[in-house]
Amino acid sequence: MIKQALISIAVLMSFGTAAQDLDRKIEFPNIEGYLSLKCDFHIHTVFSDGLVWPTIRVDEAVKDGLDAIALTEHIEYQPWKDDIKHEDRNRSYQIASEAARPHDLIVIHGTEITRDLPPGHANALFITDVNEIMHEDMMQSYRNARAQGAFIFWNHPNWNAQQKDAIPVMSDIHQQLIKEDLLHGIEVVNDLTFSEEALQLSIDHKLTVMGTSDIHGLVDYQYDLANGGHRPICLVFAKERTAESIKEALFAGRTVTWFENILAGKERDLRALIEASLDFEVKGYIGDSEVLQVEIQNHSDARFFLKNTSPYDFYANTDIIEVLPKSRMTLQVLSTRADKTEVPLKFDILNAIKAHKSPLDIEVSLLEE
Ligand SMILES: [Zn+2]
Ligand SMILES: [Zn+2]
Repeated sequence: MIKQALISIAVLMSFGTAAQDLDRKIEFPNIEGYLSLKCDFHIHTVFSDGLVWPTIRVDEAVKDGLDAIALTEHIEYQPWKDDIKHEDRNRSYQIASEAARPHDLIVIHGTEITRDLPPGHANALFITDVNEIMHEDMMQSYRNARAQGAFIFWNHPNWNAQQKDAIPVMSDIHQQLIKEDLLHGIEVVNDLTFSEEALQLSIDHKLTVMGTSDIHGLVDYQYDLANGGHRPICLVFAKERTAESIKEALFAGRTVTWFENILAGKERDLRALIEASLDFEVKGYIGDSEVLQVEIQNHSDARFFLKNTSPYDFYANTDIIEVLPKSRMTLQVLSTRADKTEVPLKFDILNAIKAHKSPLDIEVSLLEE
């Protein structure tokens, strides 16, 4: 009896662990024409001011179900240099690439050019040799990275250690970088912050929307994974699951970032992601009543908050509707008159942000049976 009970507990525990790990993997559906790749392009290890070895970054990314990561060590900030000799600045990339091989995880070579604001910090991705990028002259560092084919993005433009009011400012230097094809993206999400102003700058200056963890400690410590939390990611809409295809997508600006359950991106990409994530289906009337049942299915790991902006009322909901991750729910719609054949439901998706103070609006046209 006791033995059996112990076995049952052991079985439950092992199932529990497996289920939790499975659940931890971040999932979003592919959008029309593209794969939705889950990426984190801003990560530190002990090879700059991070607190873990590069292999741990690979383990975390595999657990989170990511497709690609970039380890982006600071070029100019090396606080552990007395303990960790760092003569070849490509070491963290090399170690992570080796560790990633059995896992089918794409590791992209990157680094963080770390200067005062402006221009502040910037990550260069798809580089070939960090040693060749290092240069006293800031502009020359950018040019060296670009000469290697880099995609370069402005990091944490809202960071209050550099920008006291946390409102990013597009300086002359940034404009010069953009003009010289040395700046291609901007972090809208970094670590524990989300900047709607940075999102607006991405629209106004045609920069790619980026969202990253900028993780220094452990993902498990920083984010409340056990309670539905998640690390920030950048969803990249790529033609194939390759580094080359990710690069093409970043230069083309096809991204959406996911942070604390907020999805932020340019309207075209955000709309495509929402269309792939949410299905609406008419399920007929309740009995012989005129209350129409509409099933909403969420294929993604995001929890959506929909605000009804159509004239219809609901039988069991207010105008704010919560759609849980990977779930189905039924909405019961009133006042669908008998002479009507089409029910145009309209919603603002409160946690899908397409510009400064601007949630994505959707219209779902439902045909009554
Ligand atoms: Zn930084
Ligand atoms: Zn950083």
